[in-house]
Amino acid sequence: MAPRPMMLFSCEKKDNSPATSETVTIEENNTTVGKPEEVKADPGTFKLQPLGYAYDAFPNAIDAKTMELHYSKHYVGYLNKLNKAVAGTAMEKMALIPLLKNMDMNNSDVRNNAGGVFNHELFFSQLKASPATKPTGALAAAIDRDFGSYDAFKKAFTEAAAKRFGSGWAWLVSDEKGTLKIGSTANQDNPLMPGMEVSGTPVMGLDVWEHSYYLKYQNKRPEYIDSFFTVLDWDTVGKRYDQILNPTATASAQN
Ligand code: MN
Repeated sequence: MAPRPMMLFSCEKKDNSPATSETVTIEENNTTVGKPEEVKADPGTFKLQPLGYAYDAFPNAIDAKTMELHYSKHYVGYLNKLNKAVAGTAMEKMALIPLLKNMDMNNSDVRNNAGGVFNHELFFSQLKASPATKPTGALAAAIDRDFGSYDAFKKAFTEAAAKRFGSGWAWLVSDEKGTLKIGSTANQDNPLMPGMEVSGTPVMGLDVWEHSYYLKYQNKRPEYIDSFFTVLDWDTVGKRYDQILNPTATASAQN
């Protein structure tokens, strides 16, 4: 928990305005101790992905301290534990997506940590300080087709994220034909794993573990979900969807 009394003191010291809870939150959470480029993971088969932006890239939506802890502690923790869990096994040679699709769901070490790595890499990659705020192209058409409208999609996704009990993720997934679905999974599970309540390839995902929002939002998960949509880059999400629809074309375009 954040050291609230100390921060209240620091607010009072700076000016005489009342220390609102909002002021306290900003004071507390903008204190980072490092930079994403300085983060190191243990050696292993799965490599650390760069964050791609500063911890304080989203001051109005996700506070810097949360970003720092989320990337440098939570994500790196999953990565290090995954590398340890697969070391010396056949899984060491597998790419992450086949590993998830062929998951032995009784192997909780690999299940939790492979999920944790994939989910966080997806989550961080979708965020942008100046995002495209609405889907375009094939994804926009598919959202209208499968949910009726963008607003109806957003309402259903928000509900899935709000209603996921305890720790987990909300998902927009696609099947191989491009049909979209919304759902949620518990813990670090994801829709690529066998036997999930929502199956398919994740197009977009939202972390609703308390570690992703508690410093800034405390128990107000719905406010965090609303803020997420202000930094979600629909161009990035749309490109993922295009790649699911046409994997070979996108792969050759990237080469
Ligand atoms: Mn997380």
